[in-house]
Amino acid sequence: MELRDGSYFIQNVSVIDLAEQFGTPLYVYDAEKIIHQFKSLKMAFSGADVKVKYAIKALSNVSILKLLKRHGAGADAVSIHEARLALHAGFAPSEIMFSPNCADFSEIEEAVKLGLIINIDNLSFLKKFGAQYRSSYPCSIRLNPHIMAGGHYKISTGHSNSKFGISIYQLPQIVEIVRQYNINVNGLHVHTGSDIYEADVFLKMAEILFGLASDFPDLKFIDFGSGFKVAYQEGDLVTNIYDLGLKLTQSFAEFCRQYGRKLELWIEPGKFIVSEAGTLLVKTTVVKPTPSVTFVGVNSGLNHLIRPMMYDAYHHIVNVSNPSGSQKMYTVVGYICETDTFGADRKMNEVQEGDILAIRNAGAYCYSMASNYNSRLRPAEVLVINNEAKLIREAETFEDLLKGQVDIGL
Ligand SMILES: *Cc1c(COP(=O)(O)O)cnc(C)c1O
Repeated sequence: MELRDGSYFIQNVSVIDLAEQFGTPLYVYDAEKIIHQFKSLKMAFSGADVKVKYAIKALSNVSILKLLKRHGAGADAVSIHEARLALHAGFAPSEIMFSPNCADFSEIEEAVKLGLIINIDNLSFLKKFGAQYRSSYPCSIRLNPHIMAGGHYKISTGHSNSKFGISIYQLPQIVEIVRQYNINVNGLHVHTGSDIYEADVFLKMAEILFGLASDFPDLKFIDFGSGFKVAYQEGDLVTNIYDLGLKLTQSFAEFCRQYGRKLELWIEPGKFIVSEAGTLLVKTTVVKPTPSVTFVGVNSGLNHLIRPMMYDAYHHIVNVSNPSGSQKMYTVVGYICETDTFGADRKMNEVQEGDILAIRNAGAYCYSMASNYNSRLRPAEVLVINNEAKLIREAETFEDLLKGQVDIGL
């Protein structure tokens, strides 16, 4: 979204027109930005045979999956239904990394039937997998490198108290199970969390993996997960992907020489690809001055975008109806019947009832985490592509709230 000649645009489409045409609340995604982010990663890691597996959980609309597929992405699924969405969008099974955590083993069996790449993250399942498939179907192993990193405890996945991955200190057990069942381990995987800007965290993780790899002679890839950080507000530190790409691909090349074979380098970005491409458009329902603050109430809430309440995330908010108005302080809140603040003490161009506000960075973990809490309906999604706005998901209707409920004749 950018300000041009006194109005906000996404590509050549006016943001105010989008709100008028499709109504609010409305999720809008910029296809150009998504592709730009995807291509930058490919470029940054071009020093290796890189495969970018888009993390579906960030934003799982099938049109977004098709867009990324068309530009050469693979997919990273954490549930069997995410994998199904990817298959539906046209990804080949062999392009889909399946990394569930604490899912039922039957999901792994189903994933094998579908032909997906299997990533195992506990010793018990590794044993089950070995007993069932032996060397007939390969699997990758998710390791926990015991590194504390990430923007928030709830999204840190690679530390010693995390439920994710098999501890690197359990390597002897892993190796024993692999030998016992003659398992074909085709990949090693780590994912230490989200919002990691320090290249050193990734490089340290890489060193740990390289050190373990000699125990696994059949590797085809090493998957470094994700966690690449983007800016949510001015001055935010972000992952310098070019610096990281250069350093990581260099040490990867050195590792491959020692390993004796060229492997593929995989990454699984979600947030980096779609966060900044998304905007949630909401309408100001009420401006409510109180003795302490002036609230701006909007027709959306934590049911549509939970990140501020769930992770204390900052999302920039812009009054697109009044781009040049004088600045005042507001606290922007949702319509849910509990505290659901989108942004506290924000300086914004003067807001009037009916004004359209744009909540930025609404591409990743926003729609995909939306719910029907308070019996509110989920909004429509629009993709702006080639300067045209296309509806890619209809807003829910009242009937959706009743769908699946069983009338027992009361
Ligand atoms: C969530 C997740 C990702 C994506 O993380 P981002 O911070 O959105 O890039 C990648 N891999 C796995 C296994 C994940 O669970």
